[in-house]
Amino acid sequence: MKIKFCGGVQSVTGSNHLITIGDKKLLLDCGQFQGSRSAEKLNSEDFPYDPAEIDFLILSHAHVDHCGRIPLLVKRGFKGVIYCTDATYDLVDIMLKDSAHIHEKEAEWQNRKNMRANRPLVEPLYTTKDAEASFKFFTPLVYGETKQICDEIKIRFRDAGHILGSAIIEIWATENGEESKIVFSGDLGMKDRPILKDPEYIQDADYVLMETTYGNRVHPANEKSVNDLVDIILETARRGGTTVIPSFAVGRTQELLYDLNRFYEPGSPDYREELSKIKVYVDSPMTVEATEVFRQNAQVFDEETRAYILSGDHPLEFPGLVFSKTSEESMAINFNKEPKVIISASGMCEAGRIKHHLKHNIWNGKNSVVFVGYQAEGTLGRLILDGEKNIKLFGEDIYVNAEIHNLEGMSGHADRDALLDWLSGFKKEPAMLFLVHGEEDSKRDFAELVKAQLGYDAIPVNDIAEFDLVKTGGAKPRPAETPSEPASAPAKEAAEPDEISSRYDFRKPAPKKEDAKPAPAPAEEAAEPDDTSSRYDFRKPASKKKAKKPAPAPAEEAAKPAEAPAEPAPEEAPAAEAAPAPKKIASEEDVEAIREKMSNLHEDFEQLLYNATLAVDGKGISADKAEALNTLLLNLEKGIVQLGSEAIIHEE
Ligand SMILES: [Zn+2]
Ligand SMILES: [Zn+2]
Repeated sequence: MKIKFCGGVQSVTGSNHLITIGDKKLLLDCGQFQGSRSAEKLNSEDFPYDPAEIDFLILSHAHVDHCGRIPLLVKRGFKGVIYCTDATYDLVDIMLKDSAHIHEKEAEWQNRKNMRANRPLVEPLYTTKDAEASFKFFTPLVYGETKQICDEIKIRFRDAGHILGSAIIEIWATENGEESKIVFSGDLGMKDRPILKDPEYIQDADYVLMETTYGNRVHPANEKSVNDLVDIILETARRGGTTVIPSFAVGRTQELLYDLNRFYEPGSPDYREELSKIKVYVDSPMTVEATEVFRQNAQVFDEETRAYILSGDHPLEFPGLVFSKTSEESMAINFNKEPKVIISASGMCEAGRIKHHLKHNIWNGKNSVVFVGYQAEGTLGRLILDGEKNIKLFGEDIYVNAEIHNLEGMSGHADRDALLDWLSGFKKEPAMLFLVHGEEDSKRDFAELVKAQLGYDAIPVNDIAEFDLVKTGGAKPRPAETPSEPASAPAKEAAEPDEISSRYDFRKPAPKKEDAKPAPAPAEEAAEPDDTSSRYDFRKPASKKKAKKPAPAPAEEAAKPAEAPAEPAPEEAPAAEAAPAPKKIASEEDVEAIREKMSNLHEDFEQLLYNATLAVDGKGISADKAEALNTLLLNLEKGIVQLGSEAIIHEE
């Protein structure tokens, strides 16, 4: 028997391990790499095995870093069976469709750029159709059911207590007449967490693969973190501010709601009346769907939560809780000035509406940003947590002035002590213990702890590597056959993840011909790395005051988009040309005034783009309007580029 670690070893993302048992090939997870751009590039690379040769894929849970490459695996020839728990099956449907949507939008945006630059077009990593096509390979099982999947292999799912449906995987494999047992921890949760059951102990295994996300960190008590959160919300609201919580749409958000429920629900012993004036907005269409899946899967909730539901109150509903799905609802959050709480995805601030909420709130010292989950290396969330003050959102420089909090006690991952506790549940030392799914120091420190506390060796896996599974004689790694995962790139890279493109660009890909003839753009345009908005940013880099201008009200904005471009036409320019003789240099004030106008235009334009996109995302727009908007935007884009190049000519 052999095991090959193909992902999720140099960081916490991209979980993917291949076990070979006789002539059978079995995969554990098939996750997406996330974080830095170089990490994300790995997603399109070849799998270090032939997908067509894989017989089974056993999926631990529905997080994208564990399931996100399944549609690609199928697209590239996988024809086996995928097993997961029934709740994971419900969630994975939402996750993969959402993920496919993001890939489609990214490719669409990239291709507009490529067409303008006469570069070859790219394909999305996978499409919604690919995601749908992969569902027919899934077979859901219930926790505890032992399933003989072929003559040589039996599997069983046990509760991992990490997110709804998350599982520890037990595998019994027979090779040359001898049976061995492999246990994969998946991602492990903490004990005594809302909604979920505690992670189950496993008593025996020959080989163990376990996660070490928090292999060297101890969480504060959950109860303390929950109380801290309520204090932060109240203090922030007292100074007129908003609390923004980046949260994974599946899992963390539902636990957050459960935790907040008892403070918001009149009649509960923890009820705080002051909170009744502070609404909680959950802004992410996927979260709304995922919460629905939670509601429908009460059978896997823990005792306490089921008892609570039987008492008549649903813990994922309370007064003041608002789910926003449509564009109008989402926009309203951005523009109402009341103190409030905004919970939005993605949890590591890499994509999704959270980036807009950060842009609107993080510059203002009245507000708070609270992290409640793990922030991987190279992500914007990690950058903010590490104290970076100058970040970039949509190509705009944003100063981090809000209070930043990290409530690690709310994390869905077991901490160091909980990991050790789970491991000590094994009655005897496994022949081989592999540590995966953690940063290098975390795995190293945990291996030392295991040696000191339990007296045996663990193997931290830091690269793509293959091992023979042997019950005696110690572990000998085989030489790596494939290039290793690059370490996460410098965090800076993550600060500009091309976002407008993916989620908020609603324009249809324009016909090739039209795009092939670009407007007379200034030469700099081609060199400008990424962002749509940055191309239109004429401002001085340091004009921080600008950020304080309140955004225009949504309804008006959407109603009269044509007004925006009219504002800043540089009236002086033609006049200056008409009187060529004495070259008059514009006064400092005049230049400043133009800059101010341009800056306003830029912001209005971006707002317009955002609002219109939300309308399209929420499908709240008719086909005619979409078409008109499309034309308007293309013209605007050309006009602005033209304006920019003329401004440069006049300057000279
Ligand atoms: Zn997970
Ligand atoms: Zn994970």
